[in-house]
Amino acid sequence: MKLILFGPPGSGKGTQASLLKNKYNIPHLSTGDILRSKLDDNDELALELNKIMSSGNLVPDTILNPIVTEKLLSDECKNGFILDGFPRNISQSDFLINFLEHNQIAVDLVIDFTADTNTVKNRILERSKIENRTDDNIAVIKTRLKKYFEETKPLADIFKNKYGEKFIEINAMQEISKIQSDIEKRVKNA
Ligand code: AMP
Repeated sequence: MKLILFGPPGSGKGTQASLLKNKYNIPHLSTGDILRSKLDDNDELALELNKIMSSGNLVPDTILNPIVTEKLLSDECKNGFILDGFPRNISQSDFLINFLEHNQIAVDLVIDFTADTNTVKNRILERSKIENRTDDNIAVIKTRLKKYFEETKPLADIFKNKYGEKFIEINAMQEISKIQSDIEKRVKNA
């Protein structure tokens, strides 16, 4: 099962990806998690990443694209993956579409998590009490949401056109279990 998840920060992509990962035994490729794991390296890249991520801005494509390429071509992803957090802008989107075509990787579903700004803001603030993310505070959330609506949300139309019925919208403002069952129904029919 090869899935791409779209949606604003705080829309529950990570939560649903973990559930899907366990159910279908496929890796969860979260670019945010991959980048966060690099922050511990304490090298120059980590310093650069920390500066960008803690301000809510996007990490350059020159860093992201090779990471995603390597992961998607790895054995781990041969039988499926859940791509979460990529693409985030038009150049990543062009890159991914070309990459998938070139490597004949057929995506089964593109899932767009829809949620309004207040819902995601509140969820992120709740998460900030549990997780220790430098970007889960109100000032940075504003930048992250601005980036999302300006650069990422418009990609949904590109993927909708490209994937037709394989592009689905899920109401991400519902309970976790309801979102999960909505997704599973669609995955079963994919
Ligand atoms: P996330 O965990 O998906 O909310 O990502 C956390 C942060 O990592 C984002 O605010 C960006 O700074 C960075 N990031 C994650 N994925 C990408 C991406 N595809 N392109 C650029 N930056 C990214």
